[in-house]
Amino acid sequence: MTSAAPHPVLDVRNLVKLYGEGEAQVRALRGVNLTVERGDYLAIMGSSGSGKSTLMNILGCLDIPTSGRYLLDGVDVSRLDDRQLALVRNRRIGFVFQAFNLIPRTSAVANVELPLAYAGMKGPERRRRALAALATVGLADRADHEPNQLSGGQQQRVAVARALVTAPALVLADEPTGNLDTRSTDDVLAVLDRLNRSGRTIVLITHEDDVAQHAKRLIRLVDGQIVHDEILRRDTDTAVLA
Ligand code: ADP
Ligand code: MG
Repeated sequence: MTSAAPHPVLDVRNLVKLYGEGEAQVRALRGVNLTVERGDYLAIMGSSGSGKSTLMNILGCLDIPTSGRYLLDGVDVSRLDDRQLALVRNRRIGFVFQAFNLIPRTSAVANVELPLAYAGMKGPERRRRALAALATVGLADRADHEPNQLSGGQQQRVAVARALVTAPALVLADEPTGNLDTRSTDDVLAVLDRLNRSGRTIVLITHEDDVAQHAKRLIRLVDGQIVHDEILRRDTDTAVLA
């Protein structure tokens, strides 16, 4: 990574996403403008059908917009082909999903190593980084446990470790606490909060107000447009990652 990058992590201009054609056409995003600076912690809220998943899929390079421009970490990704998008996903974005999406019957550390394996990193270095990521989420002592030997909250912390092991520019979390009880929700949010304090940029989709309150900034989507954009708090103690 370059030091003190001058560009925002996310820079989205006039993003439009249409599904279908003619009478059946759905305008899922209707001109979204959004800039997210390095070190920010953004919560995206909105009712069902408001376009949250569509926006997340585009921000995560899982889908492309119908029109508009999208710079991720300074790179224009709106016109990349599938292979290039896959590379950007692997190198620059860490995903956390509601359903954890860990590989069953596979140890926590092997799950965390996976994105590094895809990136072609060799065994010993891979293992070292995966163990460090597990330590970051407080699970150093669970490295050899398989998903079914871990609680929901622990599984989601393994998923967070997997998301951050590649040192991505951005962590995208889609309803990461949607399947968790209150205690585990607190554990996972504490990890995300700590990651953000250490300089990681986080975008969090949630339905729950008290989850969104962990973020520094809150936007609300209605019918594919941002109708609300609010600074919740300004941290003075956030490190800016080199
Ligand atoms: P949210 O995640 O906020 O519930 P979505 O982004 O999933 O909203 O959906 C936004 C709108 O786009 C909805 O009207 C939805 O029905 C529509 N939509 C989403 N995906 C598709 C698709 N693959 N084909 C057609 N319409 C879609
Ligand atoms: Mg959705």
